[in-house]
Amino acid sequence: MKLHDEVCGMEIEAKDAEATVEFQDETYHFCSERCARKFREHPDWYVPVRSDRE
Ligand SMILES: [Zn+2]
Repeated sequence: MKLHDEVCGMEIEAKDAEATVEFQDETYHFCSERCARKFREHPDWYVPVRSDRE
C-alpha cells in the first residue's frame, strides 16, 4: 500500500517508512526521522486539525 509522507510529499510503502507518528487517532508514515520530527513539532502545518467541538 502506498502512503503519502505529509512533510516532504514522497510516496512511500508502509514497510519502508523510517518513522511513524500518531496524531488524531491516525498513524502517519514518514520516509525519515527528520520528516517525522518536523511533523511532531507542527502537525497542524501538514494536516487539518480536528476541532473537539464539532
Ligand atoms: Zn519525507
